Amino acid sequence: MEHGALWTIKRQKGHIGGMNTDELSQKIKAGDRRALARAITLVESGREDHRAQARALLESLKDAGKQAMRVGLSGTPGVGKSTFIESFGLMLVGQGLKVAVLAVDPSSARSGGSILGDKTRMERLSREKDAFIRPSPSQSQLGGVARRTREAIALCEAAGFDIVLIETVGVGQSETMVSEMADLFVLLLAPAGGDELQGVKRGIMEMADIILVNKADGDLKAAAMRTCSDYSGALRLLRKRPQDPEGYPRAMSVSALEEDGLKDAWEAMQELVNWRRENGFFDATRAAQARFWFGEDVKQGLLSSLATGRMRKIMDGLASEVEAGDKTPSAAAAEALGALRG
Ligand code: GDP
Repeated sequence: MEHGALWTIKRQKGHIGGMNTDELSQKIKAGDRRALARAITLVESGREDHRAQARALLESLKDAGKQAMRVGLSGTPGVGKSTFIESFGLMLVGQGLKVAVLAVDPSSARSGGSILGDKTRMERLSREKDAFIRPSPSQSQLGGVARRTREAIALCEAAGFDIVLIETVGVGQSETMVSEMADLFVLLLAPAGGDELQGVKRGIMEMADIILVNKADGDLKAAAMRTCSDYSGALRLLRKRPQDPEGYPRAMSVSALEEDGLKDAWEAMQELVNWRRENGFFDATRAAQARFWFGEDVKQGLLSSLATGRMRKIMDGLASEVEAGDKTPSAAAAEALGALRG
């Protein structure tokens, strides 16, 4: 229903789905999920007037709500992400916590349909009043996804969610992006068949704060335990990071299906985040992330200003001259940058 529902945005300036930004802001602060969904649709829009409204809205919500725990969750398709999120989310809701799930799926544009947008996923969780699930928008570039996801996180925080789970499929680039906006990064793995480590890229391993080996049940239990101890060993070999207390990053086994080990996983997440809060790493990381995204947004803006309007013509013209050998690439680049400044 919320998916790609740009049509809910009224075309009048300043009005979103019949509401102005002040009303929307008030409703989000009151925890209204429909208002939250509308606001996310607004931040997903690339239209200039929507961008201006989105910025005004985010500004008005800047100090609202509370600091949610932002948890990045990654794993290849089939590892059990939706099963885990459903069981884990229901457990948290059962403890009186409010849980938001945001899916990031940069591949959806290519595959034409988003696996993460599948409405049947997490059906039980989606029926809970204290849960909010948002499939990934079907769009293209990673830069755009990053901004939208960050803004959606901010909106969920303003709406008073305690935990924001940011789910991504294991395709590399999106993990890096999600880890740059999360307080904690969880990697979900399946039990390995043999006794060798799975082809998990080192970079992704290094990002993980907690590795959860899922499907530790039935016939797969022994393999899951073995995989878990392999990863524990591999994690001990990684360079110690200052933001980790003793024993982290760590690997644990869970069964999302049988809801086993979920409490321990949650305790580990809390222990880690609490330690980082007490030792100054939590705020420092958020500050560094904000600084990083500021830089990224400026770069993104510069890139798009090269590809639009007056600059696009100038760029095309210079590119042709470079192709024809009439100008060197660096002379043409200097000219383009001069035109951008002017
Ligand atoms: P996703 O693609 O990562 O979201 O994976 P799904 O949650 O859709 O799960 C893929 C398959 O693995 C489904 O058939 C699930 O029933 C199964 N699965 C998920 N979690 C577990 C688990 O803890 N144990 C077992 N045995 N199967 C599981």
